[in-house]
Formats: sequence, C-alpha cells, structure tokens
Amino acid sequence: MKAVVVGGGVIGLGIAWRAASRGLAVTVVDPEPGRGASGVAAGMLAPVTEVHYGEEALLALNLESARRYPNFVAELEDASRMVVGYRASGTVSVARDADDLAALEELVGYQRGLGLEVERLRSRELRRLEPGLAPGVRGGAMVAGDHQVDPRRLVAALLAACRRLGVVLRRERAGSIDRRSVVLEAGGVEDGDVVVVAAGAWSGVLAGLPAEAVPPVRPVKGQILRLRGAGAPPLARNMRGAEVYLVPRSDGEVVVGATVEERGFDTAVTAGAVHELLRAAIELVPDVAELALVETAASLRPGSPDNAPLLGATGVEGVVLATGHFRNGILLAPVTADAVAELLATGEAPPEITAFSPRRFQRVLS
Ligand SMILES: Cc1cc2nc3c(=O)[nH]c(=O)nc-3n(C[C@H](O)[C@H](O)[C@H](O)COP(=O)(O)OP(=O)(O)OC[C@H]3O[C@@H](n4cnc5c(N)ncnc54)[C@H](O)[C@@H]3O)c2cc1C
Repeated sequence: MKAVVVGGGVIGLGIAWRAASRGLAVTVVDPEPGRGASGVAAGMLAPVTEVHYGEEALLALNLESARRYPNFVAELEDASRMVVGYRASGTVSVARDADDLAALEELVGYQRGLGLEVERLRSRELRRLEPGLAPGVRGGAMVAGDHQVDPRRLVAALLAACRRLGVVLRRERAGSIDRRSVVLEAGGVEDGDVVVVAAGAWSGVLAGLPAEAVPPVRPVKGQILRLRGAGAPPLARNMRGAEVYLVPRSDGEVVVGATVEERGFDTAVTAGAVHELLRAAIELVPDVAELALVETAASLRPGSPDNAPLLGATGVEGVVLATGHFRNGILLAPVTADAVAELLATGEAPPEITAFSPRRFQRVLS
C-alpha cells in the first residue's frame, strides 16, 4: 500500500510519519516543506482559551489532540532525536478595561458551562503570576491545561522522523491530481494507491480533482511577529488579550500574533498590521518595547466553511482529504496524523474524525 501525500506542512508530514510507522510506503510531494502556515504559526495549543461559541464538536477534537500531545512529542523526539519545544506553561487571558472584562466573564461562564477548567483571576493575582503585565489590567483568567509547542522545531523533527522511516520527499510542486496519481508540475508522475490532499490553504486550488473531492478551503491571512531580547522573555506563559496574543519561548523568543484577514492569496506584511500588533502587545506587557523585532511574516490558514477540518475519504475512490485546519492545525496535528494514518492502514475512519468527514459538504459541492 502506497500513499502519496500532497503538502509537507505539519499535517502532511504528521500523516506521513504515522503512516510510515504503520508500514505504508509514503511519498510526500512539496517544493518547500514547512514553509506554509506551519512555518509561521505561533504554536499555541489552547483548546480552552480559544474556544468559540457554537463549535463544540471542534472543541472535542481539539481537546483530544491536546490530550495526545505529550505522547506524540515524546515519540517524535525519540524518533527524530530532536526537541520540539513543547511547554506545559498554561495560558492567561487578560482584560485591560471594563469591556474586555465583561467579554472575559461571559467566556469563562461558557467555558465552565462546558465543564472546562478555567480559573478566574483578580488583577493582583494576575500580576503576581505575570509581573511584566501593565499596571491597570482589570483581571483575567488562567487555563493551566493550555500549552505551546514551537512549530518550526515540530516540522524539522517530523521531517527527520519521516526520513528515518524511509518516507520519500519529492521537493516538487504537484501540478494536478489524476485519480490515484500526482502529476508533478515539472514533469513526471508519482503513482500511489491513495492520494492524501494536505496542501493547507492551497488544497482547494489543486488541479485535476473531480468536483466532489475539491475541498471548500479558502486562504485566511495571518500576520505575525517574532521578537527577541538578551535575557528571559518579559512574560512566563502564553498570554491572550482582546486584540493580540503573546507566546514566550524558553530560548528567549516572543511571538506576537496575529491578524485574521480575508485577502485571497495575498501574503504582504503591512505597516498597519505590524503597528497594531506591536501597540497591542506593548499595552499588555510594556517591556516588549525593549525587545528586538527580528521577523515579520504572513501566511495563509486553511479556512473551511464551519472552521473545522475536512478529514477522511471523499466521494472519489483513492482520494483522502486532510485539510481545513484553519486556526488549529498545530494543535490538531497529533489527532489528524493518528486518525488519517489509521484510515490509510485499515480503510476505516476512527470515531474521533467521523464528524469531520469531507462528505458533510457534499451537498454544497454538488
Ligand atoms: C499567523 C498564524 C498563526 C497561527 N497560530 C497557530 C497556533 O498558535 N496554533 C495552531 O494550532 N495553529 C495556528 N495556526 C494555524 C496553523 O498554522 C495551520 O492550521 C496549519 O499550519 C495547517 O497546516 P497544513 O500542513 O495543513 O498547511 P501548511 O503548513 O500551509 O502546509 C501546506 C503545504 O502544502 C504545500 N503545497 C501547496 N501547494 C502545493 C502543491 N501544488 N504541490 C505540493 N505542495 C504544495 C506548501 O508548500 C506547504 O508546505 C496559525 C496560522 C497562522 C497563519
């Protein structure tokens, strides 16, 4: 059994690694693996902090993937001999004014109503946890179970683990998909028993897929910044404000993100977005102003009509989708990799992904 995976972001590489572990022959086709959204993402693993109203099914999948993270990381670090920067640091949400506080209280009520663990914090408690916070913050909440990983290290480790298991990496662009084969743009064909479409925001524009297998995925632009200082970051854990989030890493990096924009395939970094992200970050943690701005970047999230991924078989035999992970692709990498590898190995989709079958959009597609 041979799988050809189109796209080498965390999703494609995760599936390739897990499928190869189960004995499948796997080829990944990607001209620049890890250079899509997975290469710029912040790496928040925050199913509770980032829960959205009306997305309870997605929440269950997000929680399941968060639960699998520690084992996934341990196995991956062992297989790749690399570290991926997984930190069980917790995440605080911060309210700067009365409006933020009202919104936060409503969110905490919703989270608790769903049985999720969240601790409400007064401003003094919050500032004791995070002394770098601006004076005058009105209060906040702490989710001890929301963590982080470094997506760039994760991609590098997945590539190494894939290589060790004999996954073939073809650094070429897929021009089109022809049944169970991938036609390469530069010429040549990669034949398989099954093609897995994991090309992130580009999954919907791959040529050759019959209409019923084209995923309704659109690009959603995100601009994001990386900063760095000489010493430890001025905050200890992930921090979410109303307009911005900050992710401090143990190596001194601080990630500040992110815009959410509907602008097609545009990936320009704009002065306005950099300005707004920095302004909001410095308002929360004033010492961010002392850090060096080392990188600005933009990439494209694979958005879907219901913000949830499309995982599993399509109406077309031999074509499986693993895309549409939108804001949560880094978080969802373990459960996606396990479940899609199981589908490839056994022909059966495990129960955790049946609600995310691409067939739920079939009516829209036809
Ligand atoms: C600014 C920003 C911040 C984010 N922060 C977080 C976060 O904190 N936590 C979280 O869980 N998620 C986050 N995300 C979302 C997350 O990055 C995505 O959901 C995830 O990376 C999607 O992974 P993917 O492998 O599907 O896509 P990608 O990483 O985009 O990979 C797709 C791959 O397909 C390849 N490709 C495209 N076309 C072709 C072709 N024709 N032939 C061959 N290969 C092709 C590309 O080269 C690319 O490598 C963030 C996203 C952005 C943009």
